[in-house]
Amino acid sequence: MDYLMFCDHCGMPKPIVEHIMREYFWIANHVYCSNCEKPNQIPTYLQELSLEMHRDRYRDSE
Ligand SMILES: [Zn+2]
Repeated sequence: MDYLMFCDHCGMPKPIVEHIMREYFWIANHVYCSNCEKPNQIPTYLQELSLEMHRDRYRDSE
C-alpha cells in the first residue's frame, strides 16, 4: 500500500511507497517536494506508523 502526502507549499501530491515509509520516515523529519523542492514536515501519525512498520519488520532479527 502506498501513502500520499500533499505539499504544504504547492499542493502537489507525493506518493510515498511502503519501503520508504518503513525505512526512512521514522528517522526523518522532513520530506522534500518533488515539484517545488521545499521541505514538508512529516506528520506525527505517519512517523508513528512508520516506526510500527519498522519494528514489525525487524523484530525477529534484533
Ligand atoms: Zn511543493
